[in-house]
Amino acid sequence: MMFVTEVDEDGKEKKKHELPFKHSMMLPAFTGIDAVRNVKAEGLINPRGFIIVDEHQRNPTFKNIYSVGVCVALPPVEKTPVPVGTPKTGYMIESMVTATAHNIAGELAGKEPHERPSLNALCLADMGDSGIAFLAVPQIPPRNTTWAQQGKWVHLAKIGFEKYFMRKIAKGISEPYYEKMILKFMGVVRLK
Ligand SMILES: Cc1cc2nc3c(=O)[nH]c(=O)nc-3n(C[C@H](O)[C@H](O)[C@H](O)COP(=O)(O)OP(=O)(O)OC[C@H]3O[C@@H](n4cnc5c(N)ncnc54)[C@H](O)[C@@H]3O)c2cc1C
Repeated sequence: MMFVTEVDEDGKEKKKHELPFKHSMMLPAFTGIDAVRNVKAEGLINPRGFIIVDEHQRNPTFKNIYSVGVCVALPPVEKTPVPVGTPKTGYMIESMVTATAHNIAGELAGKEPHERPSLNALCLADMGDSGIAFLAVPQIPPRNTTWAQQGKWVHLAKIGFEKYFMRKIAKGISEPYYEKMILKFMGVVRLK
């Protein structure tokens, strides 16, 4: 039996539910990893243990620290009854990495960081016998584009994508020109 407390808009208890189940899953709230969450350095992380970055992926206090990926603190999209994080997905993270790589290279050449990630989302979410493809430009609202489609083709597309992705990474090319062109045509770019 799963015991669930439903809350109202202010986060106060509204109703209790008892849900019988045979197989279930609960996702705990994301937090930063121990190695970072336990660092005592004012200005490095937020209270949930995520690393604070500016629009160039650089920590505003420790300017020699850049951060990319799920470990980054993104501001909440809107006020919710219980605190929830902003989702982060693969392409969004690729855009953070691209901006960071350019900014570190720029700094080494004596320039100030200037590249900003687009934070667009393009996902093939596999569900075994089916899947959902979605495009969100940018991922964090307000959006210019929102598109989603479900079907078995997504499952097959994900298998194809995995093979393509592993091959290009093995070759050391993170963004081949044809991928860049196709995505640009769809309005998806890595940098703002
Ligand atoms: C179930 C699920 C499905 C998803 N599906 C999709 C999808 O279809 N499309 C999509 O775009 N995104 C999807 N995502 C999101 C995407 O997978 C993540 O956003 C992305 O993998 C995050 O990349 P990352 O490199 O920041 O972190 P991770 O991929 O989590 O990499 C962090 C790495 O750090 C390592 N690590 C942790 N602690 C330490 C330590 N102390 N020392 C050394 N190493 C350490 C971890 O072992 C891990 O390998 C999904 C996520 C989940 C959980």
